[in-house]
Amino acid sequence: MAEKSKGKLLAEQLLDEGKHFCEQMDQQELERADLFCEEYKEFLASCKTERECVDYVVPLLKSSGYVPFVPGTKYQPGDKVYYNNRGKALAFATIGTRSFADGVKIMAAHIDSPRLDLKPRPLYEEAELALLKTHYYGGIKKYQWPAMPLSLHGVVVRRDGTSFAVNIGEDPADPVFCVTDLLPHLADEQAKRQVKDAIKGEELNVLVGSRPFLDDQVSQKVKLNVANILFEKYGMVEKDFLSAELCVVPAFPVRDVGLDRSMIGAYGHDDRVCAYTALKAALEVKSPAYTLVTVLADKEETGSDGNTGMNSAFFRYFIADLAAAHGVPERVVLSRSQCLSADVNLAFDPTFPDVTESRNTAYLNHGVVVTKYTGARGKSSTNDASAEFMGKIRSILDRGNVQWQTGELGKVDMGGGGTVAMYISALNVDVVDIGVPVLSMHAPFEVVSKSDVYMTYRAFVEFGRDADDRI
Ligand code: MN
Ligand code: MN
Repeated sequence: MAEKSKGKLLAEQLLDEGKHFCEQMDQQELERADLFCEEYKEFLASCKTERECVDYVVPLLKSSGYVPFVPGTKYQPGDKVYYNNRGKALAFATIGTRSFADGVKIMAAHIDSPRLDLKPRPLYEEAELALLKTHYYGGIKKYQWPAMPLSLHGVVVRRDGTSFAVNIGEDPADPVFCVTDLLPHLADEQAKRQVKDAIKGEELNVLVGSRPFLDDQVSQKVKLNVANILFEKYGMVEKDFLSAELCVVPAFPVRDVGLDRSMIGAYGHDDRVCAYTALKAALEVKSPAYTLVTVLADKEETGSDGNTGMNSAFFRYFIADLAAAHGVPERVVLSRSQCLSADVNLAFDPTFPDVTESRNTAYLNHGVVVTKYTGARGKSSTNDASAEFMGKIRSILDRGNVQWQTGELGKVDMGGGGTVAMYISALNVDVVDIGVPVLSMHAPFEVVSKSDVYMTYRAFVEFGRDADDRI
């Protein structure tokens, strides 16, 4: 090979040339990534709501030595505790060797995803069909939801306080449900609507029955038949819908995408992909220097409000109570803490290149994406990670040989969005967004790359293990 020219050497030394990840990884690491993702696929298949995530993770924590957190206890290095917030959010920690006065390390992901929630009085009959009224949850493109198989998940609390879980439509033997759409032959008027109203919120009605209960003395026979099926299966009556959280989500399974099987298509990568990778990293880092706190939050997709969201004090209380037993005040531990806001960002889509700025967007297979700020327009409503903290994260990732890239959430004037980062930074914690790039974000079928998922896991492990006290 010819000797490298001076310009070539300079370019290698000075310039930032993003490289395709697969060109940098050896076959063994690719195999590790694929193997890691097989387990991730199992997790995704079992976890389509925040409750199902918590139900999946708690036994895993217990079998890994985590015990329920007891405020007032002075935990020792290596101790592992978890706090289950109402079955919908989790905080867990591995106690480090350093004092709480040095702060803790936090990984915060969310386990809720956009979907259709049932309204409090959902069941009705019209034109001899039984349907359920829904109210969508989070940012969806409503037109994406009709004409595909849907499943029903959630919990119902009966009047006497007993409750039961619902999961219909995942087992291949189960029936599924659907939102109907208009046939194209008669859709001329619908086609004149703006895309955001192609299907309206009140048109997202879920079809659940069509056979009547045979009895001449009653009207609404199809509705009664459905109500009777629910009563026979669960002992529930119509009023029990009032004290329920029932969610309609896509019923299709998790699948490999591509002839090369390099990607995973599924419902709910945002943000279960970061929740899972953070969880696996937390289990891997057994004796951290800094106490490693992982939060799996609910309600991010609706703005993080509510007592199971990151805006709730539950997260603050957890850290404050951990530190208080060691005589360290909340403001001291939080002010010195560091956090990865573990959430997805968009991956560049060649079919829709106009919404991104090519030099500052993330690409599939280029590794975990670090997002300095999100927000909209002039950086409104966002955390903007400091140069110092970006420097710290950069050195952690480079030292660990983690393939990473940076990204923005689209062009400056195009739109925007947010994560939990701003709520955690409001507690005077150093925060940056980091996670997996996603194609078709918030669609019923989102796509991620297996190597990016693995690199995100590796990034979280390096962050958890980092013992350097420089910020
Ligand atoms: Mn998210
Ligand atoms: Mn989201």
